[in-house]
Amino acid sequence: MSDCIFCKIANKEIDSNLIYEDESVVAFSDINPQAPTHILVVPKKHIGSINDFQEVDKDLAAHILVDVVPKLVKDLKIDESGYRVVINTGEEGGQTVPHLHVHLLGGRKMTWPPG
Ligand code: 5GP
Ligand code: ZN
Repeated sequence: MSDCIFCKIANKEIDSNLIYEDESVVAFSDINPQAPTHILVVPKKHIGSINDFQEVDKDLAAHILVDVVPKLVKDLKIDESGYRVVINTGEEGGQTVPHLHVHLLGGRKMTWPPG
């Protein structure tokens, strides 16, 4: 999508601190980190939110949770200490960028409820 900031980051039209990339996903540091580790895992394909997932996106969704997140947390050595994976969805869910993204937060003790 041409005016989407995360599409632009995925297409390298806007700089980011790229941490991981493969054929379907990019991961980069959040510009306003909420924890010592705060990475956004973003599908290259424009998907607005979980609400917009289609049957064809099943492999992509599984890839993010089964391959990419576990690899990143191991590389960052937060797999044992713990981390949080968040997908804010819609206005009340706190989503501000309308391109699906998985927040990966770690490096500090998280609190619950998240607020
Ligand atoms: P949301 O509020 O939609 O769940 O998360 C959007 C996240 O994207 C926020 O944590 C915000 O800091 C981050 N963000 C917004 N614009 C940019 C940007 O241009 N670059 C990077 N790296 N992160 C961004
Ligand atoms: Zn997009």
